[in-house]
Amino acid sequence: MKVLKFGGTSVGTPQRMQEVSRLITKDGVANLVVLSAMSGTTNTLVEISDYLYKKNPEGANTIINRLEQKYMDHVEKLYNSDEWRNKTRNFLQEEFDYLRSFTKVHFTSFEEKVILAQGEIMSTNMVTNYMKECGVKAILLSALDIVRTDKNAEPDFNYIKERINDALKNNPGYDTYITQGFICRNAYGEVDNLLRGGSDYSACLLGAAIQAEEIQIWTDIDGMHNNDPRIVENTEPVRQMHFEEAAELAYFGAKILHPTCIQPAKFAGVPVRLLNTMDPTAPGTIINNDFQHGTIKAVAAKDNITCVQIQSSRMLLAYGFLRKVFEIFESYKTSIDMVCTSEVGVSVTIDNPTHLASIIDELKKYGTVNVDKDMVIICVVGDLGPENVGFETIACEALRDVPVRMISFGGSSHNISFLVKKEHKKRTLQALSNTLFKK
Ligand code: ADP
Ligand code: ASP
Ligand code: MG
Repeated sequence: MKVLKFGGTSVGTPQRMQEVSRLITKDGVANLVVLSAMSGTTNTLVEISDYLYKKNPEGANTIINRLEQKYMDHVEKLYNSDEWRNKTRNFLQEEFDYLRSFTKVHFTSFEEKVILAQGEIMSTNMVTNYMKECGVKAILLSALDIVRTDKNAEPDFNYIKERINDALKNNPGYDTYITQGFICRNAYGEVDNLLRGGSDYSACLLGAAIQAEEIQIWTDIDGMHNNDPRIVENTEPVRQMHFEEAAELAYFGAKILHPTCIQPAKFAGVPVRLLNTMDPTAPGTIINNDFQHGTIKAVAAKDNITCVQIQSSRMLLAYGFLRKVFEIFESYKTSIDMVCTSEVGVSVTIDNPTHLASIIDELKKYGTVNVDKDMVIICVVGDLGPENVGFETIACEALRDVPVRMISFGGSSHNISFLVKKEHKKRTLQALSNTLFKK
């Protein structure tokens, strides 16, 4: 069995939903399908929640009504028969009445998570109904009964594994199994989610849990490109990459993949294939355990980084200094991405500044603290092991005109990271592309 995940744009219009249904049944074998909400829906649900936080029910209602109209128009075009049109319309009517009911209750983050879950609940019901109308034996398995996070808000893999395998075993004989991406329950049984873009993570967790033959992530581009196509000109698809390379790129900003989705696939050894719904025969990108020596694969950028530098003359030869510094970040559950040390100081980067003020207060006990906000990590991924002589020099050479704040190299054998100011992001990415991938 394969896991096929379709993202927001892949299910964004009636035509796309019909096309996706064809792709799902094309092989004639039963696969597990993970769907996102229709593109734009989760953003709209966030907007509705923002109005409700601000105690503006009229504002929320206006957006709910507009969204409802869009979905009802969609239903008109999606189905061929009145039977399925009416069935789906009734289901959506209940969904939108449910959304409107939140304008009358006290609004907290619990209600927000329930609202955010409705996008995937609606899209999966719509596609399942369409497939049934087409005569496909399709079944919708609720992700809320299968995917759970633990007390640290991390996926509870053993639970997921047991639940999905039971669900498949207890429902034999279907042509297609459909479930929602992104949504889950937390350790307390409340509706929750795997953070924005989390449908990729759902697909990889489920693919690892059923030890799938392959996890396919279907999106709106022909695979992982060698640089961010939204920013850099003339990017090209990378045909193959190692799990570690893809994991680094996803974590350091390649939006095509959720930051942590590769880990479960890597541990289970299940290959991940990135494919294009708009061009289904394009080869896309395969992510597996093969490592191609001597090549630089791609560049990615992670925004909203804060750099914290602690300088202390007392650090000179002082063992335990770094431990003290890291313990402060740990006590505020703030993870560190880049680290650079010298004899008199250490610079680290964080992407979550929630506790920055408290962290700085504590760090000041150990030395002078400087903070740079609005920084960007630029990450170059590929064969950057010590045997591959010269590649880090080429990357550094590309940046000869860019003020670089930190460089991190040697932490793994497939990554070199540069920290630059936000205003230098575009030209840094372009310069790296021009130098590393020139033909
Ligand atoms: P989906 O809704 O299918 O999950 P996303 O919008 O989350 O799709 O991810 C696909 C988008 O990721 C592409 O349209 C592209 O603009 C963006 N992207 C950013 N970096 C890369 C990259 N290195 N390779 C391919 N796409 C990328
Ligand atoms: N619908 C969710 C989002 O927009 C999850 C996803 O698309 O992966 O973030
Ligand atoms: Mg996505």
